[in-house]
Amino acid sequence: MDSSDAGADASASGSGPQQAQEVGASETQPVNPEAGSSRFREDVTLESLRQRLADFAAERDWDQYHTPRNLLLAMVGEAGELCELFQWRPDAEVTRGLPGFTPKERTAVEEELADVLLYLVRLADVCGVDLPAAATAKIAKNAAKYPAERCRGSSAKYTEYQAMRAEARARRGARGQAEGEERGTEEQGTEAQAEDGEEGGQERGQEEGQGQGRG
Ligand SMILES: [Mg+2]
Repeated sequence: MDSSDAGADASASGSGPQQAQEVGASETQPVNPEAGSSRFREDVTLESLRQRLADFAAERDWDQYHTPRNLLLAMVGEAGELCELFQWRPDAEVTRGLPGFTPKERTAVEEELADVLLYLVRLADVCGVDLPAAATAKIAKNAAKYPAERCRGSSAKYTEYQAMRAEARARRGARGQAEGEERGTEEQGTEAQAEDGEEGGQERGQEEGQGQGRG
């Protein structure tokens, strides 16, 4: 076997051992095409997948091939295989629930999604990243970046909200300064500056990137 296929792909495509096949297409919970959503089985955790993939590689002496770079490239390759299943199809076939997909095509989607996930989990493992912890932290960060009350129904990037907020602050600051000058006091301007400092600090604390709702 080509070592570039080592591990995650073999397990997800069904050519791996039984223990790896357990997480494959045949055991996924049925999708509800009407709702375009499904529940995940709850007895398989990311940690259990990480351990099984580590065992899978160790049993075959494949750790030598599972460098971060190799796993990253393999994961991107699997993402490409997933893309192939969607490209060129009419838009109506690729709406939620994938109504235009045959059972065989659905199985192919499940397998490629699994391949991407398994390589991602393995990659996180060899990079020393606690993936569920990182994902949980990132969701919290994205929630701060995209407050629901401000972003509902909009696909704008968070930088646009920040720009709008900065403009509003500038307007408030200018108004406060004008009012302060009128009353012969800088009270309002000082308040606006204090508010600026607070919000600016929050923004600087947010890393670059996009919310999980954006591509
Ligand atoms: Mg594949």
